[in-house]
Amino acid sequence: MARPGNDEFMLLVAGLGRDGLTELADRIVMRLAEPIDVDGGTRVMITASVGYALAPADGDRTDDLVRRVELAVAKAKEDGGGEAVAFAPEMDLELFRRRALENALRKAVAAGDISTLYQPIMDPTGTRVVAAEALARWSDPLLGPISPDLFIPLAEETGLIPELGKQILRRALADAMDWPGIDIAVNVSAAQIHHGDIVEVVGEELQRSGFPAHRLEIEITESVLLADEKRAQGQIHGLRNLGVRVALDDFGAGYSSLQYLHKFGFDKLKIDRGFIKSIGTPDDSSVILASIVKLGLGLRMTITGEGVESDEQFRVLRDLGCHQIQGYLFSRPLTAGQFTLFLAAHRPIAAAG
Ligand code: C2E
Ligand code: CA
Ligand code: CA
Repeated sequence: MARPGNDEFMLLVAGLGRDGLTELADRIVMRLAEPIDVDGGTRVMITASVGYALAPADGDRTDDLVRRVELAVAKAKEDGGGEAVAFAPEMDLELFRRRALENALRKAVAAGDISTLYQPIMDPTGTRVVAAEALARWSDPLLGPISPDLFIPLAEETGLIPELGKQILRRALADAMDWPGIDIAVNVSAAQIHHGDIVEVVGEELQRSGFPAHRLEIEITESVLLADEKRAQGQIHGLRNLGVRVALDDFGAGYSSLQYLHKFGFDKLKIDRGFIKSIGTPDDSSVILASIVKLGLGLRMTITGEGVESDEQFRVLRDLGCHQIQGYLFSRPLTAGQFTLFLAAHRPIAAAG
């Protein structure tokens, strides 16, 4: 038995077959899950994540075997712990794919190859553009286009998000200089709020571009608030002090504490697409949707409905009093050039810098 890390133990057992190994691993998990009574009558509960591999089938060299056991442990942890997981060959492939994707992303960020599209955000008549949301796009020469739902979390896990985020912000401000009177919304990840210097970065980029702060909107999700409330509050405050507006994105998708709306002083509420998608379907949640809009209006926030795909969804949101509407019904995300053309056809009446 060895102890390779603080809370890691490694066991080498000879003479067990596949069945015996599985049984041993399960027994370890079960025994460790039993409550332990310590001095003073305190009861302690611990959980263990166990991974295992069998030689020679899963590897006949020590380093291969250890690496594969570690992959199995990682899977056990990912699944929530308290479980024994056997190494499976897919784990090697999964790791290989992830590494390849990670390397490709690292290169793309370094080369400035992440591009930006802009989705128009319309006024409640649905005829005029009032803002644009900047959305990151990545297409690798070999792997093809990769969804932001995949590469944004990867960028967060690998520490690439501050650099990527800065590039998107810089690009968006530069492009939006050509769109007088139009607000620009940029997404910011939890990692940028908690580990970065987002307030300094936004301040610098505003100065560098000369873009008016009051036309920039930073979109954050609730997960930002959950991690470290104090820090989040400080950063949001810092951003607002720059004159930038802060929007709460995907509201209603997660924890959705009503208290947050009040406490953090958001300028804008973006209602999660889930509510809008359900309009007119059997699991219609219009009552909740209506309450959220009413609440937001009461707190004097700008309300945006996003993910609007049908006329019916549009009508419902407009009638509830939403200020802004965004969705495929009006336009998909566009390149800067396409957005300029779209804007010319859907110009606000009074455009001011
Ligand atoms: P999000 O911030 O909620 O962005 C809205 C997403 O909904 C976008 O997906 C947009 O293309 C999509 N969408 C807009 N209208 C419709 C519609 O009518 N129907 C449907 N089905 N979808 C619609 P996208 O571009 O794939 O981005 C996914 C997520 O990735 C974003 O969700 C955001 O969380 C994240 N993301 C994208 N760009 C950035 C970025 O520059 N920085 C950060 N931190 N996150 C980003
Ligand atoms: Ca967003
Ligand atoms: Ca959203």
